Amino acid sequence: MARKILVLGETKENELRNVSFEAIAAAHKAAEGGEVVGVLFGEGAASHAEAMIQHGADRVIVSEMDELKQYTTDAYMQAMEQVCEEEQAEGLVIGHTSSGKDLAPRLSRKLSSGLITDCVEIEGEGTNAQYIRPVYSGKAFEKIKMEDGFLFITIRPNNIPALEADSSRSGNIDTKTFTISNLRTIIKEVVKKSTGGIDLAEANIIVAGGRGVKSAEGFKPLEELAGVLGAAIGASRGACDADYCDYALQIGQTGKVVTPDLYIAAGISGAIQHLAGMSNSKVIVAINKDPEAPIFEVADYGIVGDLFDVIPALTEEFKKVTA
Ligand code: FAD
Repeated sequence: MARKILVLGETKENELRNVSFEAIAAAHKAAEGGEVVGVLFGEGAASHAEAMIQHGADRVIVSEMDELKQYTTDAYMQAMEQVCEEEQAEGLVIGHTSSGKDLAPRLSRKLSSGLITDCVEIEGEGTNAQYIRPVYSGKAFEKIKMEDGFLFITIRPNNIPALEADSSRSGNIDTKTFTISNLRTIIKEVVKKSTGGIDLAEANIIVAGGRGVKSAEGFKPLEELAGVLGAAIGASRGACDADYCDYALQIGQTGKVVTPDLYIAAGISGAIQHLAGMSNSKVIVAINKDPEAPIFEVADYGIVGDLFDVIPALTEEFKKVTA
């Protein structure tokens, strides 16, 4: 049965995040030939609507109201509630990102809907679709089927492939204003942390350091390798707790959950809380001088050695192939 499914797109630093396209692909599976309607809020939203259409949205609702310039729970809640009511859609897909994780449970309560969070794969289509999500810190997966009611899912970035962009696609772009009142949070200024350019959640390659890097200076060889590979830098909580790097880089149960094509873990022991954030990476390379380190149990390639020898050697080799 064809259904209308909404997709809330997300921008970051005036760029449309890739998870928005992945959410459109997920919505098409749920829509079973029905309409997929993109929703975009914030500064410059209208300029990204076309990209959503090229990636599969049939129509896009945009709003550049001042109240929606930056994500705040209250404003986005109120606007999304109105979109859901006006559109009478049968479902909503959003990214399992910081703002998505904040918005989804509150909005699902308002809509009195169920919520399937952190979906990494979809099997089947329409009302027969099964939504797969990790449980027990990624040690197992559960499959959820929602046969009736409003379908609300959040998808983990980098897992559900986006559809190929098709520049011949066209669709309406509807500009809307909403009634937004009683805001408890007003963002006056955004102060960016300087943690490097590539978004960890959407990075294809991550070079992560742990307590084994021994100092903030010890991250330098990792940064050099990351520069050659076009990778993002990540870290274990051990490294963050030791003040070698910013907590924004932390990967794991209480940090970011990542699924890159390649994850290079240097000087990270592989505690269960760290594995919870990276064990679904497609290829894991572990560098550790302790051959018994648990990280080797999840690694596809293990290098037993001193990271300060291994990382520069890898950087030199990669320089030869990327030159
Ligand atoms: P360590 O365990 O100290 O390991 C350092 C490793 O470096 C060792 O294996 C050592 O052999 C190796 N090493 C040392 N020198 C070198 C060298 N020169 N070359 C190569 N290898 C070297 N942790 C997270 O990462 N993310 C989380 O989100 C997270 N959440 C948590 C939540 C809770 C509730 C709790 C209790 C803990 C959490 N932790 C988390 C902490 C976690 O349990 C570990 O303490 C942490 O992951 C350890 O970090 P590490 O591997 O860098 O340090």
